[in-house]
Parts: sequence; C-alpha cells; structure tokens
Amino acid sequence: MSAPAPARRWPLTCPRPSAIRSNARLPDLEPAAAKELGQNALLNSSQLLKPSAKPPQVLRNEIESVLISAPRLARRINALARRIETDFAGRDLVVVALLNGTVMFLADLLRGLSLPLRLDFIGVSSYGAGIRPGDLIFTKELRLDVRGRDVLLVDDILDTGRTISRVMAKLRPLEPRDIKICVLLDKPSRREERINADYVGFAIPNHFVVGYGLDYAERYRNLPFVGVLHPQLYKA
Ligand code: 5GP
Ligand code: MG
Repeated sequence: MSAPAPARRWPLTCPRPSAIRSNARLPDLEPAAAKELGQNALLNSSQLLKPSAKPPQVLRNEIESVLISAPRLARRINALARRIETDFAGRDLVVVALLNGTVMFLADLLRGLSLPLRLDFIGVSSYGAGIRPGDLIFTKELRLDVRGRDVLLVDDILDTGRTISRVMAKLRPLEPRDIKICVLLDKPSRREERINADYVGFAIPNHFVVGYGLDYAERYRNLPFVGVLHPQLYKA
C-alpha cells in the first residue's frame, strides 16, 4: 500500500524577507492603540493597517494578502490582555463572546488574562454565506446571570455595528453593572450604528478579511493569520 499523500498545509507564519523588513518599520503602537492613547484623534487611511506579506503559496488563489501576521496578532492581543487586566481588577467579570468568529481571538485573549472571570457565549449568525450582512438570528442564548456584574463583550470584527447593537439590546435588560466592548478588528469606515469598541486590536481598511476565526462561507477560520479574501471569490 502506498503512503498517503501529505496533507496540504500552510506554515504557521509567513516568513518572507520582505514581510519581516516591512514589519520592522512599523511603529511600536498599532493604530488602534495610538488612537486609544489620544495620539491620533482621527485615523486617516494611511494609518490603517496595510497588507504586509503574501500568503502561503497554496492559498494564493484565495487569499490576496496577509493583513496581520500571527506574531503581530500575538503581540497586540497580549497588550490588550494587560489593559483589560488592569481595568477589570477587583471586578466581577463575565466575558461574553459571540460565536463563532471569536474562537481564536478569545482563546488567546483568555490565556493572557490572569484574573478571575466567568465565560459564556451568545450564538449569532446572519443568514446567507456571502459577504453581505443578512438578517441576524440568535443560535445560542446567554445562560449566565450577568446582573450587577461587569460584562466584557468580545467579538471578532466591528463592521456596520448592527450585530453588537442587537446584542447590547439583549444584554442591557439583564442589568449588568457595566458592558465594555472588545473586538479584534474594527472597520470604522463601514459604521451604520453608533457603536464604539472600548478595546480594539486593529483598525483595518474596508477589505473582507478571513482567518484567525473569521470565515467566508464557513471556511478559512483555521488560518493562523488575518488575510484579505480575493474579491474574485465573492464577486464572481
Ligand atoms: P456588523 O454587524 O458590525 O456589520 O458585522 C459584524 C459581523 O459581520 C462580524 O461578527 C462578522 O461575523 C461579520 N463580518 C463583518 N466584516 C467581516 C469581514 O471582513 N470578514 C468576515 N469574515 N466577517 C465579517
Ligand atoms: Mg461574527
């Protein structure tokens, strides 16, 4: 019997000399962090993240570029965790994560948080497998009691703001002491609702991104980086 063909894999990071060089020129602060610190009251398009590397060869027809590499994600999530630890020290914290896109971000963020907390999930999904947001349906309800507690609502990406605004409308009547919003990615240019996140990993331009938990038609969630989906995949 012949040996099975090796499975197609992508490397954990995308080490290309050009990517390493361009990352080296990046400022210490991500745009979102600089914004939080008031250094850039307004982000202009040149301050948003730009694709920095080519994706692994096996994905080149599907993923146009790597927007945020695995090491860069790790660095930024670690910094977010430090801030959340400080802000929630001594509080009765309940982390409420939205399924399914937060899976990777949440796992890495939680591992970085060394303070007592409870964890629960709300399942929310939009009809259709495309890139346009459809009607929202709730696929799992919150089970934990959040009354009088501090909720940290975690989502993968804040786009129009419709999802988070619907979820906030569900959470507020449960009378938590406070609700703070934490998202890995923010596309400020697409906002329709008056929603701002308290903790933002990266502010990104208006690309449809996949990987690190984010999907297109339920694929690409397992990529270890955030990449820009080739528009030919959804424009065809
Ligand atoms: P919003 O309701 O803010 O418009 O969108 C939030 C949800 O839309 C996210 O939780 C995510 O599921 C989806 N979404 C928005 N932009 C993107 C994107 O660029 N890529 C992926 N994969 N999902 C997105
Ligand atoms: Mg989502």
